[in-house]
Amino acid sequence: MSEATPFPKFIVDNMLGSLARWLRMMGYDTVYDKSLEDADIAKVARSESRSILTRDKELSKEPGAFLLVDVDLDAQLKAIATKFGLKFHEELIRCSTCNGELVDLPKEQAKGKVPEGAHTANEKFWRCSKCEKAYWKGAHWLGINERLKKLGLA
Ligand SMILES: [Zn+2]
Repeated sequence: MSEATPFPKFIVDNMLGSLARWLRMMGYDTVYDKSLEDADIAKVARSESRSILTRDKELSKEPGAFLLVDVDLDAQLKAIATKFGLKFHEELIRCSTCNGELVDLPKEQAKGKVPEGAHTANEKFWRCSKCEKAYWKGAHWLGINERLKKLGLA
């Protein structure tokens, strides 16, 4: 196994929760844990080969860290995309809540776990392997796709 991964993994500082959700939905393994202090974030980044994304100048001095100058989420995503070559990996979407990997959820098992309308209208469902949250390509998914398209990332 080579150390270098062409597919970046991230850890974000504890101000960047919505950014973490978007990176997960794009398919990127992203740690966001409000209980972590800056020193812990640096430690996790080193031991798991994650790039730190931060708005904190001090933390951005860590090796491999990337300082986000923008407050606006779209601008942040664009800056990260330019730096790391991000794009939307629809087949790799991770759980936006917990960063878990999604696995197929057979339609008959999705019954009762998703709204009835969504169950009727869709054939494919996924569940988070960690927290069991159910996913399908509904209006929310289309919204994500649309926003990423606008940013040139999908
Ligand atoms: Zn989850």
